[in-house]
Amino acid sequence: MQKLWECFFNEDTGLGTVLTTLFYKSSFQKTYNFVKNSQYWTHEQIKKYQWQQLIALLNHAYEHVPYYKKLFKMQGITPNVIKSLYDFQQLPFLTKEIVQEHSRELKATNYPKYKFEETSTGGSTGYLLRFDIEKGTWFAKHLAYMKILLERAGCDVMDKSVQIIGREKPWEFRPLSRTLVLSSYHMTDKNLPIYLKKIRTLQPQYFIGYPSAITMLATYMKHNSFELKELKAIFCFGENIYDWQREFLEQFFQCRVHGQYGHREQCILAGTCEKSNSYHIFPDYGFVELIDRNGQQVTKDGEIGEIVATGFHTGIFPFIRYKTGDIATYSTDCCECGRNYPLFKSIEGRVQDFLVSKTKRLVPLMGVLQLIAKSSSHMKEYQLYQDCEGEIILHIIKKAGFLDNDVRHIRENFQTRLGHEFSLSLKYLDSIPLTSRGKYQFLIQKIPIHF
Ligand SMILES: [Zn+2]
Repeated sequence: MQKLWECFFNEDTGLGTVLTTLFYKSSFQKTYNFVKNSQYWTHEQIKKYQWQQLIALLNHAYEHVPYYKKLFKMQGITPNVIKSLYDFQQLPFLTKEIVQEHSRELKATNYPKYKFEETSTGGSTGYLLRFDIEKGTWFAKHLAYMKILLERAGCDVMDKSVQIIGREKPWEFRPLSRTLVLSSYHMTDKNLPIYLKKIRTLQPQYFIGYPSAITMLATYMKHNSFELKELKAIFCFGENIYDWQREFLEQFFQCRVHGQYGHREQCILAGTCEKSNSYHIFPDYGFVELIDRNGQQVTKDGEIGEIVATGFHTGIFPFIRYKTGDIATYSTDCCECGRNYPLFKSIEGRVQDFLVSKTKRLVPLMGVLQLIAKSSSHMKEYQLYQDCEGEIILHIIKKAGFLDNDVRHIRENFQTRLGHEFSLSLKYLDSIPLTSRGKYQFLIQKIPIHF
């Protein structure tokens, strides 16, 4: 998952934030006001608005984007014949392969050159995608959404905060935004005491970053009896939040853990609310579908599917029915916060976050990780590795006290849960490297998974 948040926090968010906000203030203010004023719209109002946006985007793409003009021609249609959501959902998906191959033809021809800002995502997904975003405007709009998500948790953009993300510098303080930025790459025994000292001096009001890195830091704090004045919230993005991480963080910091989800491609943005841990998808940001393994729309509560999204703010480089490669669980709940936003119960992670059994059955990683975590308290870190169907290798960095008993527990629990469809072998390591973006990877899945 390449997060828009990650991009945001990898920018110089100190002076950059202030300048962008001033320069693109009207974009920022307009977006903020619109989202704030529309957040309690009825289902009908949302539907109507999204339909208008979709039609406007399709017309724009047909008129000004060579790739889509060609695609419509090949399908023998024009936007005029798309009269319903059903019609829209017959349009072909935009895959990462297509974006990679046709990035030139996906640029809109009616934007001035200076508006194009090239960006890229990739690495962990295996696809290096290059595409364009609308210079300045995207950032101003994004700030508006970020402010709204912070406010839901009782926080403000100018609150003192600690960000833990993949950075080259081990730490950095940004006085303008009162933010201490700590790098998830550098959380070593040598640096962690320094991190705590800096956190104590700052007395932050919230933490934001990858859940794995925040959990690692909190575990270290706990071992060192480090106490912090009351925090308002923890914001997690960039990776799945596992239940055990949420439980531990909420108990340790005595505040709520909020989840956020988005991409640099800017087709979908979602966050938890004041009342629930479900992801509330901003309906004014994009149109989101969930597609099952047979290419059908997921409509049942609790079912999983791949997130396919169409961004309303992507005119400069339109993403229409874009297959994100991320898996989520559908929810038909009505949240008591009163917003009629579409909901995901959870984000399950990437398509690759599944184990493949001997019979080619896909098993979500989430449950398996919890099972392993519960089996032994003497593992410093662990990671699953699979390159062969039905065979799992568990990498472990041992802590003092790791004995045969731990091995027996892990094997027994694994066998009970996953039966005879998998075999397990254990391998002991001294270190487990982070991804190129400084994230912790719980599974290295070498088998390509076609969801
Ligand atoms: Zn809600």
